[in-house]
Amino acid sequence: MNSTKSATLSHPDSLFNNYGTRNLSMVRGEGVFLYDDTGARYLDFTAGIAVCNLGHAHIGLAQVIAQQVQTLMHTSNLFLIPGQVALADKLAGIAGLAEDAKVLFVNSGTEANEAALKLARKYHAAVAQTNRTKVLSLPGAFHGRTMGALSLTPKAAYHNGFTPLVPDCLTPNSLDEVLASIDTDVAACIVEVVQGEKGVYPLEAQYLQELSKRLREVGALLIVDEVQTGVGRTGTFFAYEQVGIQPDIVTLAKGLGNGFPVGAVIARESVAAAFTPGAHGTTFGGSPLAMAVGNYVFDTVTETGFLEGVNRVGKALEQVLSGHFEHVSGRGLMWGFDVADAASFTSRAADCGLLVTKCSDTRIRVVPPLILEESHVQMFEKIVQEII
Ligand SMILES: *Cc1c(COP(=O)(O)O)cnc(C)c1O
Repeated sequence: MNSTKSATLSHPDSLFNNYGTRNLSMVRGEGVFLYDDTGARYLDFTAGIAVCNLGHAHIGLAQVIAQQVQTLMHTSNLFLIPGQVALADKLAGIAGLAEDAKVLFVNSGTEANEAALKLARKYHAAVAQTNRTKVLSLPGAFHGRTMGALSLTPKAAYHNGFTPLVPDCLTPNSLDEVLASIDTDVAACIVEVVQGEKGVYPLEAQYLQELSKRLREVGALLIVDEVQTGVGRTGTFFAYEQVGIQPDIVTLAKGLGNGFPVGAVIARESVAAAFTPGAHGTTFGGSPLAMAVGNYVFDTVTETGFLEGVNRVGKALEQVLSGHFEHVSGRGLMWGFDVADAASFTSRAADCGLLVTKCSDTRIRVVPPLILEESHVQMFEKIVQEII
């Protein structure tokens, strides 16, 4: 058992305090484990917030990165980058959109959603020849922290002091109100198939299908934010595969880079066409290094048996959670559950060598690396029994 300590840790005055006080400092990782600056080991059910899907210090990925850094790290999008072509082909091929798909690479989740928001407006202005600017999001959504993504994230605490937000970003208060708001003024609606930040709550397939149908009826676009759910997290490459909907635009980040910043926007051909040369861009997005990482992660996650493992171990984890907690919900290796006091649960877990994240005062999220094995689930259960 670890003890709560901060032996070598001090809080420098030189850092912004936007993350508050952090009691632990991790200095090394190995697979599903992290080690802090005192040498204590932790079973990592945070995975860098659903990012390190292949685990920490993955040797194959380390070799790919070392190789690429010694070859070519960055050129900017002034030049065609072979790794972008390779990864775009793979993502477009697996996305299953209504038309051929095209891909734009960016650096983060919020940036992917920002691009999707711009693309939706531009599509209506330039391609659909309609004057539409409204974008809808769902209650409980989280889409990121930049102004556009923030405007589609209806959490008052995140808005406080940052207003005015981007006009015509609408966040109705109920799921029914979202449906009722869909008219010919709406450019797009953005959804998460499983609301991760809110507490890992999957949306009903039936609701998502109804939403998709209504959007299609009025010619509005469906944007699926797969930043957290994508790249195998829910047991399929994209979470939308499990609910019978076909997005017009998909956003990815988190798991795509395993810790190196990689984001992507996938859109059907006629939507992507709205971004004509010069319409949008990024200096870093899709760098040779980011693409070496993204291609390696994609190839690993789509290897035969990998996603079967996520589903198998995910079921074992769900069983353990259901035996100990209330309101367990999630998919694959992305689960949420209720506790009496999430802050004290999180800190007692850390004391016992387990890392989890707190979504609210009473809700915990676990998003372990996707390489998790049954033996780690047993280890998790032992620690949970110690905590409760
Ligand atoms: C984390 C997250 C984002 C924001 O991604 P960043 O890389 O932190 O900008 C957006 N949408 C969802 C669903 C997320 O989970």
